[in-house]
Amino acid sequence: MKSICLLKKVFVMAIFLCTFFLVFFWANMQILNLNGVDTALISKMRPLHVKSRLCHVNLIDGRNHNEAIANKSDLKMIYYITPTYPRPEQIPELTRLGHTLMHVPRIHWIIADDQSLCSTNVLNLLRRTGLPFTHISSPKPYVYKGTNFPRGVSNRRAALVWLRENVREGVMYFGDDDNTVDLQLFDEIRRTKKVSMFPVGLIGDYGISAPIIKDGKVVAFFDSWPGSRTFPVDMAGFAVNIEFLTPTATMPYSAGHEEDKFLMSLGIKLDDIEPLADNCSKVLVWHTKTVKFKKPNLKIDIERISKLPKYEDFANLLKETSRLGMAGIFSKNGSKTFIIKDRKTFEPLSLLPTLV
Ligand code: UDP
Ligand code: MN
Repeated sequence: MKSICLLKKVFVMAIFLCTFFLVFFWANMQILNLNGVDTALISKMRPLHVKSRLCHVNLIDGRNHNEAIANKSDLKMIYYITPTYPRPEQIPELTRLGHTLMHVPRIHWIIADDQSLCSTNVLNLLRRTGLPFTHISSPKPYVYKGTNFPRGVSNRRAALVWLRENVREGVMYFGDDDNTVDLQLFDEIRRTKKVSMFPVGLIGDYGISAPIIKDGKVVAFFDSWPGSRTFPVDMAGFAVNIEFLTPTATMPYSAGHEEDKFLMSLGIKLDDIEPLADNCSKVLVWHTKTVKFKKPNLKIDIERISKLPKYEDFANLLKETSRLGMAGIFSKNGSKTFIIKDRKTFEPLSLLPTLV
């Protein structure tokens, strides 16, 4: 009798656990057991629904510091799509890129952030640029949180959905948060009729990835990784006229093949490509990378320090450091920190500093 009772309990427990895991994984992954399966194929059959959220849209160009920039309304709008994700370098990267974009007339910045929150840091940064913008929260599906996952796909897809639903004309361009762009590039891509292409510096083993031009037409490509791609180009190496963004246009979750499969989904042929940057002889964009910064954890009791009026500014700096994700600051855990004075006097911040 006892063993039947135990069996019953185990059975109920097993049902409960199965339901829990099923609900959890279904919500996060959409599909189970992806090991060894071509994820591109799956994404074709069954699009992964990412829990994207529109955080904020601003259609007003508030850059009144430069009337000339704000008022060139006869120019075609450029929609600059930037996938980004939270890390210590996120805000500095976006600051640098934003300060480039602020020089560009008629540009709308779409920042699609790979996190489930609408980041206040990102929104504040966008507002301070004065640019028209769209802020999207577009976390990648749980299944892509491992290594060698396709980077920036859920966010670019979410940006494409917003474009398709809200914009009828203009030119779109995928510009990562860590790239470096020459202002000349914007004048060039604005002319895109269908799909334009141009070289990207600092790519792969050749230091460059570029279309090869013959008689003003793209005939081949120079890129160190062929990868069986029809269009072996980098994400930063092409722009698309939005009128040409067909309903079939999509970017699959397929590491290394995102560009090629996106261009294929547009249904373009080599002959359709418009070479820019002096027939692809100049470099106007670089695939720069920032050295990763390992976020330190510090043991500092900010609340205690901020109680002393003389340390108010310092306490605020510590809060800013934590808010911008440059260091984790905890009252109980983390590395010891010191204040330095007169070259040789060090005072641990775990105590209330008296030196300053
Ligand atoms: N990215 C993202 N989520 C991630 C990793 C990257 O949205 O988990 C974005 C990143 O901010 C960048 C783009 O995807 O704009 C390409 O990523 P990364 O620069 O790390 O790759 P790489 O340029 O080295 O291929
Ligand atoms: Mn990059």
